[in-house]
Amino acid sequence: MLSTPDQNRAFFDETDDPYEAHRRTCRQCAADAVPCQVAKHLRRAQNNARRAARS
Ligand SMILES: [Zn+2]
Repeated sequence: MLSTPDQNRAFFDETDDPYEAHRRTCRQCAADAVPCQVAKHLRRAQNNARRAARS
């Protein structure tokens, strides 16, 4: 096994949440009620990574 779920969780904690970080700093996300394309991409990539880490 390359990595355990615990290691992946630590990785996300250490690097902060890229999606949340983007939402805090993105002007487009702040202007619109809905996440911009970049935010959607970040969230999807994150969800995929977490799903992969769990299985
Ligand atoms: Zn954005």
